[in-house]
Amino acid sequence: MLSQVVELIEKKKAFAITTHIKPDGDGLGSSLGLCWLLKSLGKDADVIVRGEVPPAYRELPGADQIRDVSYLNGKYDAVFVIECSDLERPGIEGLADAVTVNIDHHSTGDQFGTINWIDPTASAVGEMIYNLCKAIGGRITKEIAECVYMALVTDTGSFHYSNTTDRTLKVASELVKAGAKPAEISGAVYNNYPWSRIELMRRVLDTVKRDETGKVASMRQTLRMRQESGAIDGDNNGFVNIPLAARDIVAVVYMREIEAGKYRVSLRSKGSINVAKIAEKFGGGGHRNAAGLQVEGDWDLREAELVGILSREIEAQEEGDAADKR
Ligand code: 5GP
Ligand code: MN
Repeated sequence: MLSQVVELIEKKKAFAITTHIKPDGDGLGSSLGLCWLLKSLGKDADVIVRGEVPPAYRELPGADQIRDVSYLNGKYDAVFVIECSDLERPGIEGLADAVTVNIDHHSTGDQFGTINWIDPTASAVGEMIYNLCKAIGGRITKEIAECVYMALVTDTGSFHYSNTTDRTLKVASELVKAGAKPAEISGAVYNNYPWSRIELMRRVLDTVKRDETGKVASMRQTLRMRQESGAIDGDNNGFVNIPLAARDIVAVVYMREIEAGKYRVSLRSKGSINVAKIAEKFGGGGHRNAAGLQVEGDWDLREAELVGILSREIEAQEEGDAADKR
C-alpha cells in the first residue's frame, strides 16, 4: 500500500523502474514521472524497459535516458514494476531476486511484489504517481507533469472512458498548472502516426461485422494485413474502439493473428458489461470495459465463441434491467 511505498523511498537510495513490454502511455508516462519524482527527492533512479520506446513517447522528458535491457544489471535497492499483471510482463530476467514494488490499477493482476500497491479506482497508474508525489511531500515539476499527463490522457482515451473521475480531472488540472501542455502531449500520440496506420485501418475495417443481435461487433487483423500495410507496433492502437462508436453496439471483439492459429484479442464494452471477467476465463484480464486475452485454434470458432458469450451476457443483463423496471 501507499504508506509502505513512501517508507521504502525514504529509507532507500537507488531504484530501477520498469513496465510491461510494448509499453503504452500509462506504463511509460508513469515510469518516467516516478523517475523524475525520485530524482527530485535526491534519489538515484533508472527507467529500464525491454525494447524500443514507441515514437509517441520519445519526446517525453527523460525518454532518451531509458535503458533497453533484458536482464536486471545494476545495484538497485528496489525495482518499481509499473502496471504489470505478473513479474514476467516486463520481459526482464532477474526481477524475481530483487525487492519489487508492484504499482498497478488493474484488480486482475498477481500480488507478486515485495510491496503491492493496487488501486483499481485510479484511472491510470499516473494518477497514483501523482498521489505518491503528494503523499511524500514532493513538488510536481514540469517534467513530472508532462509524463503523468501522458499517462492520464492515454489511459482515459482523452478523458472519455468510464474510468475518468472528478479526481482524474482534478489531477489533470494540477498537471496543466504545473506546465503540461495538453495539445502537445495529445498531438504526440494521436497526430503522429505513420501512414501505415491508415493503410492497416482500411484493411481491418473491411472485416468489421455485427452479430445477429446487432449489439456485438467483431473484426480481424491478419498477419498479411500488417505486412501489406507495412505496419509497425502501435499502428492499430484504438482500432477496437471504432465500432463502439455505433449507437447500438455494446461490445467489440478484435482479434489479431500473431502467428498461424494464435490470436491476441481485445474486448471492449459499454456500460455494465464486464469484459475483464470474460477475459479472465481465458487467462487474460483488464478492466470492466477494456480487457485482453489470447486464444488459439480455428479463427471462426474462437470468434463465434467470444461473440456468443458477449451477446448472451448483454441479453441476460437486459432481461435483468427489464425485470427491475417491472
Ligand atoms: P488491450 O485490448 O488494449 O490490449 O488491453 C486492454 C486492457 O486489458 C489493458 O488494461 C490491458 O492491460 C489488459 N490486458 C490485455 N491483455 C491482457 C492479458 O493477457 N492479461 C491481463 N491480465 N490483462 C490484459
Ligand atoms: Mn494503465
